[in-house]
Amino acid sequence: MTAAVLNLPETNTLDAEVRRVFEKQFDTAIRLRRSTAEERIAKIKKLKAAVLAHSTALQEAMYKDFKKPAVEVDLTEILPVVAEANDAIRKTKKWMKPSGVWPTMMMGGTKAYVQYEPRGRCLIVAPWNYPVNLCFVPLVSAIAAGNTAILKPSEMTPHTSAVMVKIVKETFTEDEVAIFEGDVAVSTALLALPFDHIFFTGSPAVGKVVMAAAAKHLTSVTLELGGKSPTIVDETADLDLAAKNILWGKFTNCGQTCVAPDHIFVHESVKAAFIEKATAVLKSSYGDSDAAQARSDSLTHVVNQRHTQRVAGLLEDAKSRGAKVLSGGGVNVADQWVAPTLITDIPAEAKIMSEEIFGPLLPIIGYTSLQKVIDEINANPKPLALYVWSRNEANIQKVMKETTAGGSCINHTVVHYLHGNLPFGGVNNSGIGSAHGLYGFKAFSHERAVVRTQFMMARMFFPPYSGFMKKVVPW
Ligand code: NAD
Repeated sequence: MTAAVLNLPETNTLDAEVRRVFEKQFDTAIRLRRSTAEERIAKIKKLKAAVLAHSTALQEAMYKDFKKPAVEVDLTEILPVVAEANDAIRKTKKWMKPSGVWPTMMMGGTKAYVQYEPRGRCLIVAPWNYPVNLCFVPLVSAIAAGNTAILKPSEMTPHTSAVMVKIVKETFTEDEVAIFEGDVAVSTALLALPFDHIFFTGSPAVGKVVMAAAAKHLTSVTLELGGKSPTIVDETADLDLAAKNILWGKFTNCGQTCVAPDHIFVHESVKAAFIEKATAVLKSSYGDSDAAQARSDSLTHVVNQRHTQRVAGLLEDAKSRGAKVLSGGGVNVADQWVAPTLITDIPAEAKIMSEEIFGPLLPIIGYTSLQKVIDEINANPKPLALYVWSRNEANIQKVMKETTAGGSCINHTVVHYLHGNLPFGGVNNSGIGSAHGLYGFKAFSHERAVVRTQFMMARMFFPPYSGFMKKVVPW
């Protein structure tokens, strides 16, 4: 590979450095087309071992970055990477096998199959909220599919990124997997390169920037984005379970989860009971006052002061328009702290009703008509996740058939993300394409269509168009 293959302006050292590594990956990407399942699996095993070997360092780093409790690091960062790696270790050989298809009428005498080939040089850009998980889970898929990769973790969790750099450098040569720390400038330099695939996880706004950059090279993209994920609790729901489960899904990682329940629609007939139960759960889980909760070692903090101010701003805006805080409400910007907060009576024009909250504020909205709730959800951008709590099958089916979302749980929250046999992704504003398991492998693979002639039936399509050829069409 020489620089002549690319014709990019070399304006500064950052551009030159990312280009150097990108070019170095060219020959490797070609070589990896012939890589065996065993070779790919060996790399995934190395990555898994390195992540486990650095698990204490990752826990310490994430505590420094946003006081993430060690148990949450294990459950939401390390476990998903290990689970994804284990799945790929077991199944890569099967995933790589060409999948045969039946011949169609016109294709008699041929054998046809789909051959999964690596896309080539891939870029993985990750957000800060699950920094290890959202960088290394797609990396497992990229390796399983036989690609090279460049990783760009978020600049907002620098202690974690530093450990990730160590893991990558100890495990891979840079022509196979490289990692660049840094902010928008680094992303922008990387996005100028003609990657074969970009796997981006982040906000819809930046997703559009990524897709526009990819369009310049017709690079394929997987976009794992965000947005507001609604939850519906109807009048038949198991309120005890719903309250416990929804609050767990919301306040894990301090509400900074792409599939966290953003806001809840609760049937008016059970709203008071739900609030009572939710308030009790909040206290028993995290402490019975804002001060106690601020000391809780089960709560992550907000990632930085800017985001603390953003979340506090949503709360203040809602309060100033008449919303009622039911529990929580405390803010300490210096400590990057917002108390887990239940809030109700929110006017539709409050910002909290249109912006992704991505913090520990849970709006509870009463409803009487399920149809109106569905209409409201359908009037907004398509959500990444939608949850329904109900024991009424007709209501469940109505919600599932009359709405759309990247994924859903019925009487559960968030766990579809953890189900390795399901595609994980959004729809339009919440994302394009999917991740995890076979779907992650496919995201990083090109499905090459192959027809192989068994005997010479294909000759019948040759000109001159006379005799049999004139009669071959059935109409
Ligand atoms: P973000 O979009 O601000 O940043 C994501 C990445 O893009 C970071 O690495 C950042 O450095 C980079 N970036 C930022 N601005 C850029 C620009 N102008 N050009 C190029 N690159 C740029 O997202 P975030 O704040 O890190 O994460 C929060 C968002 O991510 C939320 O919307 C959340 O819902 C979403 N998210 C989605 C998933 C999912 O799997 N669907 C998972 C986690 C987070």
